Amino acid sequence: MPELAEVAYFVRQWRAGVGAVVERVETHPRARVFRESGAKEIAAALRGKVLTAAEAAGKQALFRFAEEIWLGIHLGMSGRLFVAAERAGMAPWAESPAGQPQPQHDHLVLHMVNGVALIYNDPRMFGAVRLHRGQDAPEWWRKIPGALTAKEFSEEKLRGILARHPRVLVKSLLLRQEYFPGIGNWMTDEILWRARVSPHRRAEEMGVEEIAVLWRTIRQVCRDALRVIGERWYPVPDAWLFNHRWQRGGICPKDGSPLRYETIGGRTAAWCSQCQR
Ligand SMILES: [Zn+2]
Repeated sequence: MPELAEVAYFVRQWRAGVGAVVERVETHPRARVFRESGAKEIAAALRGKVLTAAEAAGKQALFRFAEEIWLGIHLGMSGRLFVAAERAGMAPWAESPAGQPQPQHDHLVLHMVNGVALIYNDPRMFGAVRLHRGQDAPEWWRKIPGALTAKEFSEEKLRGILARHPRVLVKSLLLRQEYFPGIGNWMTDEILWRARVSPHRRAEEMGVEEIAVLWRTIRQVCRDALRVIGERWYPVPDAWLFNHRWQRGGICPKDGSPLRYETIGGRTAAWCSQCQR
């Protein structure tokens, strides 16, 4: 499932169309991704409009067009954005059961006058495309909390979140988008592993020093992910947990212990019982 940095990477691909007019729109009108806004309506709204901006926030993408038209895309489980020229160059997408993107899953294609095609591909179709008209960005976008790398995500703020949910596992809490926009399963695993916190720990069991470490680690993992995955997708350094967690039988890159895998809060957590207490 695309998290913070993957969404940033995908949005970056569509920036190839910023400044260009939408010449033609291709859709699969019956695709489930159009359950909120109809494909015909989207095509009619975008045709002839200039794409003026492309932004990512948390797990959401928002594209601004001339004449107060906005297109939101949530990538769901398996959605991706890319430009036609890049299809052959895509890196393998480890968590996607579908492997390489297949053209039959291109549910929305914007053919731009500058010669690029902006493609939204989504095999499982849990993603959604949303059209919005208005001077301001849609409300769902404005409600996304500030980035975890921004100043407003302070250590005190993290302490407050943990204090409000004392019985909740830190792993589950980190997955809540209203507090930690863009954090998903692999990022929570990476954060807890680097901070040496077991995924079985509850918020109330965290000491002041541990919370300080957790806060620094959340910000560091976000920055690292945006720098590596968000900018160029791969390679991800082998010193991260990332490369070792996707398949069962992974080894902790710190001490060589076998990783443990367990369903926690509905997601499969990978962790090292030696490093994380
Ligand atoms: Zn370890």
